[in-house]
Amino acid sequence: RCKDHDQKFGFFTEDLTLQTQHRVKLENQLRQALLHKEFHLVFQPRIDIATEQINSAEVLLRWIKPDGKVISPGEFIPVLEEMGLITSVGEWVLMRACIYASQWQKKGQPIKISVNLSAKQLRQPNLPDIVTRCLETSGLSPELLELELTETSMLEDVSHSISQLSLLRDKGIRIAIDDFGTGYSSLAYLKQLPADTLKIDQAFIQELDSNDPSDRNIVQTIIQLAHNFNLSVTAEGIETERQLEIIRQLGCNEAQGFLLAKPMNEPELLTTRHAFNSR
Ligand code: C2E
Ligand code: CA
Ligand code: CA
Ligand code: CA
Repeated sequence: RCKDHDQKFGFFTEDLTLQTQHRVKLENQLRQALLHKEFHLVFQPRIDIATEQINSAEVLLRWIKPDGKVISPGEFIPVLEEMGLITSVGEWVLMRACIYASQWQKKGQPIKISVNLSAKQLRQPNLPDIVTRCLETSGLSPELLELELTETSMLEDVSHSISQLSLLRDKGIRIAIDDFGTGYSSLAYLKQLPADTLKIDQAFIQELDSNDPSDRNIVQTIIQLAHNFNLSVTAEGIETERQLEIIRQLGCNEAQGFLLAKPMNEPELLTTRHAFNSR
């Protein structure tokens, strides 16, 4: 028994050492990535359901390692957050995104861009100044910038979130509540949050393919509630024609997902948009 226990314990510590080594390596690689400009932006188009036009896109971060391997943000953003680097990377993303969008605006092809902010960025006291500086440096109109914050990050400190988001909205920037429905006290706080858009989480959209009518009812309720609060509704993670048809029937405003378009680089975004909007 005792020997068995020792063995298990032995495996356990060995495991932990491996985990620590992996983590230290990842952190070092991320510091290198920052220095060597290995971060890139991709854009996922979003369609306006009523007009069937692409008028906006979400900016998504990618890490392309020197060997060409693409790492998704789900793997490294939590690490950047723990390392305290997410605020500087997030600021870089925001500035780059504003510069791109300002170039499109100057070419007479305005596309609204949505930038994801982490909870740590929302808690930065100078966030409104950072956003102002990005707008001023790039020359982008504030109406063409939307900031996406998860429901969970907004509810971490509700009164601070409300004052920060109000300051941003006063500048003319749009605010979106991301991953809606995955947090807790959603409904109670929805009315108080200064926002323009609600993004229904992919999990609810996937359920629309089942034959259970209650899944459709949940999405219908979210859309009605959002419209009652004057929020525009975006459905994310649309992968099937059936999902698109249902959310169209339910009065959803915008759709985003692999069925419509995958995340792509900037030249592809412009050609995709042109082809799509001139059909
Ligand atoms: P998110 O904000 O919910 O972004 C949507 C994610 O869903 C993206 O994953 C996108 O590629 C993926 N997606 C889009 N359409 C579909 C679909 O039809 N089906 C499925 N299964 N997935 C779809 P991605 O790019 O891996 O990003 C993951 C998360 O990382 C994002 O989730 C966001 O929370 C975070 N993230 C991405 N870029 C940034 C950034 O610049 N800053 C911060 N703070 N977070 C970011
Ligand atoms: Ca998002
Ligand atoms: Ca989301
Ligand atoms: Ca998500």
